[in-house]
Amino acid sequence: INTLLNPIRALINFTEQFQKGMTGFERFLDILNTEPDILDSEDSIEINEVKGKITFDNVSFRYSTGKYVLDNINLNVEPGETVALVGPSGGGKSTICSLIPRFYEATEGQILLDDIDVKNIKLKSLRKNIGIVQQDVYLFAGTVMENIRYGKPEATESEVIEAAKQANAHDFIMELEKGYDTYVGERGVKLSGGQKQRISIARVFLKNPPVLILDEATSALDNQSEKIVQDSLEKLSTNRTTFVIAHRLSTIRNAKTILVLTDNGIVEKGSHSELIKNNGEYANLYYAQFMDDDEMSI
Ligand code: ADP
Ligand code: MG
Repeated sequence: INTLLNPIRALINFTEQFQKGMTGFERFLDILNTEPDILDSEDSIEINEVKGKITFDNVSFRYSTGKYVLDNINLNVEPGETVALVGPSGGGKSTICSLIPRFYEATEGQILLDDIDVKNIKLKSLRKNIGIVQQDVYLFAGTVMENIRYGKPEATESEVIEAAKQANAHDFIMELEKGYDTYVGERGVKLSGGQKQRISIARVFLKNPPVLILDEATSALDNQSEKIVQDSLEKLSTNRTTFVIAHRLSTIRNAKTILVLTDNGIVEKGSHSELIKNNGEYANLYYAQFMDDDEMSI
């Protein structure tokens, strides 16, 4: 039941219940294969050489406990494009994104990856093609090396290091007492929010998925580490289909499409300049932030 509320958190709770005998890393991998609620259909397929086209076709959704959160969403995102989701808290931004890796299933309508309904794709195969960076980062008890390698368990050491470099994480890792062998997680070295976030970004670089979900990835960071993390996120989203939810609107100005989502569904859709011209909801949000945030002028 917990899994319904927050899949990732549920996984972590499970982890803590496990007994000794396996390393933290093994335990973590084991847990990730546990997904009681959503199963592969019998005729589900593996997908290869995914381009990353995402389509929402008349998608409506409600959690089992409540009213409709998404009502008839239609959206077409070409491979490599960036879509930004903005709007008030509770508007359904995270929910839209959670349907793509099938943490939840659309109540009505279809979500397609490269024109294949995600319900017909093996979960493991689907999720292999989707990278997620969110506000909370979970490091398991293990080394930095193991924590990054979780993005691609068969990766070599040099692949892990290369991913860390791309994520702007290599330099701070080298300054830790034992470098990549430094123990992190519960009883390990304490890392800052920005450092943890860069480790989670390194995981995704290593995984190298065509589709990316960035859900308030920088929201918990102070200004300075936000800039470093933002820089690695921009590199990460290059040439990947990206769904980005950001509290700071300056970071999504360059998105091809911006969706403004409220209790009333998608109320606006367009580029930054189109939406500013519209002088509607987005323009209001944008100017409101502009007023109380010097950073906006950059
Ligand atoms: P946003 O990301 O835009 O803040 P969410 O997608 O998290 O919005 O939430 C949309 C709505 O769905 C909210 O009303 C929220 O309370 C509800 N909601 C989110 N997650 C769950 C859940 N696991 N179970 C039931 N309701 C949920
Ligand atoms: Mg959210």
